[in-house]
This record gives sequence, C-alpha cells and structure tokens, in this order.
Amino acid sequence: MQALVTTPGEEHSTRLESVGSPRGEGVLVRVLEVGVCGTDREIDHGLFGVAPEDGGDLVLGHELLGVVERDGGGFGAGDLVTATVRRSCGHCLACGEGSPDSCLTGDYSERGITRLDGFARELVLEDAAQLVPVPRALGRLGVLAEPTSICARALRHARTIGGRQPWELSRALVLGAGAVGLLTTLLLRLDGVETWTASLEESNELVTALGAEYVCSGETELAALGRFDLVVEAVGNAQLMADSLGLLGRSGVACLLGIDGREQHVTIDGPVLGVDAILENRVLFGSVNAHRQDWEAGVDALDRARGRWQDVLERFVSLRVPLDRFADAFAHRGGKATLVVSDA
Ligand code: BGC
Repeated sequence: MQALVTTPGEEHSTRLESVGSPRGEGVLVRVLEVGVCGTDREIDHGLFGVAPEDGGDLVLGHELLGVVERDGGGFGAGDLVTATVRRSCGHCLACGEGSPDSCLTGDYSERGITRLDGFARELVLEDAAQLVPVPRALGRLGVLAEPTSICARALRHARTIGGRQPWELSRALVLGAGAVGLLTTLLLRLDGVETWTASLEESNELVTALGAEYVCSGETELAALGRFDLVVEAVGNAQLMADSLGLLGRSGVACLLGIDGREQHVTIDGPVLGVDAILENRVLFGSVNAHRQDWEAGVDALDRARGRWQDVLERFVSLRVPLDRFADAFAHRGGKATLVVSDA
C-alpha cells in the first residue's frame, strides 16, 4: 500500500512509497483523510520530526479521519474514528496520569511526528485506547478533530488559569485566521464569547459568519480595540506573542499556540512586563497537544457547530487532494488542506 514517507532532517525528502500491510495488535482502521498543518511542512523542510528508527524514514500524517475496517477493541466495522497524536513517555508523573500532553520528560512519541509512524497510508493498526469516536453525522468534517483538540486544550487551560481568581471570559482576541485561529474562534463563539479575530487579509467571511468581529491587522491597531480577557496567538509570530501581554485587561490570560522558531530578539514594553503584568495579575502561557478530554470536547463541539454553521465549517477545509498531490497540500495557504487517502 502507498504511504506518504519522509526522511526527517532531509529537506523535501517527502515522497509516496509502497509500504507493507500493518502487522501487530490493534484495531484496523482504513484512513479516509489526513489534514496537513505547519508541523508537516516543518518536517518536510527538514526542521522537525524523528523517525521510529535512527536515520530511518517516517510515515507522515497526524490529523486522522478513518473508518474502522473490522470489529475490534469495542469498535464496530464502519465506525468513524480519529486518534490521539502523543503517546506516553512511560516514565513521568504526567504520562503516568494519562496526560502525555503535559509530559515532563520530552521522551514522548507522536504519530507522524516523533518516533512513531503516522496515518498518511491506506490502513493503520491503532490501539483501541487511542481511538476517539467521531459521530457519523460529522462525516468528513471529522478531519478537523485534531486541530480542534489543540484549541479545546488551549481554552480549557486558559479557563483554568483565569479561573484561579474571580474572572470572566467575556471578550477574546484571536490572532490569526488559519485553521487553528478559525477553530478557536468557533469554540469561543459556541460559548457565546464576544470574539475578535485578526489577520492580514482585508476581510474574512468565515470569521464574520461565526458572529465574530474581523479585524484586518494592516488597517487597525490592535491596541485600539480595547482590552481583552483572553488573547490567543495562532499566527506563529514571536513579536505578536510578546505584544499579546500588552493587549490584556486586568486578570487577562494570553495563550500561545503558534510556533515561531526564527532566531531573533523580540521587544516588549518595559512597563507592560514590569508593571501591568504584576499590578493587573496577567498571565502569558503556551499550550501544545491535547488530552483525551480535549479530543472528546473538540469532537462534541464540532458536532454542535455543525448544527449551527454547517456551511461555514465545510469551508474550513479549502483544499482536498489525493495523497499523490501532497506537494499542493504543503504549498497551500489560507485554510486547511487535507489529503484524501480513501473514498470509502
Ligand atoms: C500537533 C500536536 C503536536 C505538536 C508538536 C502539532 O502540529 O498538532 O499534536 O504535539 O505539533 O509536535
């Protein structure tokens, strides 16, 4: 069977290759679709990723939508599923408590990213405990489960951090209108939060269709929008990350979700850090990956959102191509690109 394979550390080594049928234990899943994100692009650029064996190859793909091929592990043939990405390091407190998303050693493995082959192949065997059911009615929208789980975790943590003292999440700013920015906007709007979403393009119909305010960051100074209880940085720009602390109101929380690995120095206003952050109890934190509860919450939120904004959600995926057109998916900007592995 065909798989999307890359050699981590080797730029543009991604290719389609024939791999053997999966062998071993687990539930057999036919892969319908895998989403592509910045992490896949970074791996393809040779900047990230670790193969299961030293110097070997890695099957890409960590945003799975699949269908159970035959009964097993409590799942029935035909069930739609997705699967968690990060797996326990086996020797830390967090992983021991079922929270590899908070792994304390960094020795975790991640499907399609670090030390574990991914899902961009026709069939895959998966541990039943790592599978997450996707409601049939969600259909192909289930491919958004993984990025939604990332946003659900970020918001859960933001609420926990904000909630350490009396605080209300009534006004939020989302920086970035890529898949993560849009899905964060969606989750906030589902909860009735007044949401402002900022990006570079002049307008964004998806943001406004969700009942959020769209801000063209080239035209409007973010500081002119007033203060926010929550700022989520989903652009991947370290300067914006630093700026987000200055956009918070009293007890405000800023969450960093984008990645910006460029070697650079960013600036921050001295009094924002040295005075406001303290006198106003502000917090800036980062969030990665997702706990199982975030997967379940994310899938549930997508299902609820479908009832309200089906057309809008359908447009979150702006490019769907077969596996052999992976280069187009990697080059795609402005919305989620996915690889269709099977039409089953
Ligand atoms: C994935 C996460 C993963 C992170 C770091 C992201 O693209 O969505 O699941 O933990 O990359 O590897």
